[in-house]
Amino acid sequence: MVNFKKVNERKRRALLQHKSNMVLKSKKLEIIGEFAACVAHEIRNPLTSMKGFVQLLEKGTVHPDYLEQIHSACDQIEQYITELLLLAQPQQVSKKLVNIRLLLEDVIDTVEDKVVQKKILFNRQYELEESPLIVCDPAQISKVVLHLLSNSIEAIQYTGTIYIDVKNKDGKLVIKISDNGVGMSKERLAKLGEPFFSTKEKGTGIGFMQCYQIVSQHDGKIMVNSEENLGTTVEVTLPITVEE
Ligand code: ADP
Ligand code: MG
Repeated sequence: MVNFKKVNERKRRALLQHKSNMVLKSKKLEIIGEFAACVAHEIRNPLTSMKGFVQLLEKGTVHPDYLEQIHSACDQIEQYITELLLLAQPQQVSKKLVNIRLLLEDVIDTVEDKVVQKKILFNRQYELEESPLIVCDPAQISKVVLHLLSNSIEAIQYTGTIYIDVKNKDGKLVIKISDNGVGMSKERLAKLGEPFFSTKEKGTGIGFMQCYQIVSQHDGKIMVNSEENLGTTVEVTLPITVEE
């Protein structure tokens, strides 16, 4: 005998699955559309300026600045494309047991020169005497920390302090990076992580997006708090695997 109840249930589930697949597809298309619009916009700007200068040169109006402007537009396009290619590369995640304190110190060493130039102070606070070991891809997590530190350094106009706090919060590792730099307005904060959202002349706005991506691949999360003219705090939370 046919069990109509079971058949109906199967049909209902298939329909729900189909509906959720459709929603996912249209969401994907929406994101691809937004992303394509951003890329097109960001590449068209330097391209338009390049075309303008080439036209002036064609007309015989020669000025040494024109070539410089064309070079700068080419560099801008090149930078976007390099970053886009980085995003497109399948992220080879190779996780291993890492001492997070040593990783942080290594990254801090690489920015020491920039920090000294700007007279920025680093204030580290490792609440954990024994640094926890976490399972992560050290190259990827270093990239995140380096990017967050670079953003903080760039946010400090003349001189300031960057605080690095590492602690164990409810069994999770929290790396907190704060600066007393320019900070962000609420509107800006809301756009953080969107590709090409940058307030810097040479910025690409891809950095934060990559940080979110890498941290979520590690089952972690990033929280950002910021206030204009006061500073920014970024908290990266990662699962702790083993404590020493
Ligand atoms: P980029 O550094 O290339 O501009 P990001 O994705 O790293 O791109 O950051 C996007 C934007 O977010 C920056 O241009 C800046 O306006 C803002 N931002 C990020 N970090 C900070 C910070 N620590 N302080 C102030 N603004 C920041
Ligand atoms: Mg950046």
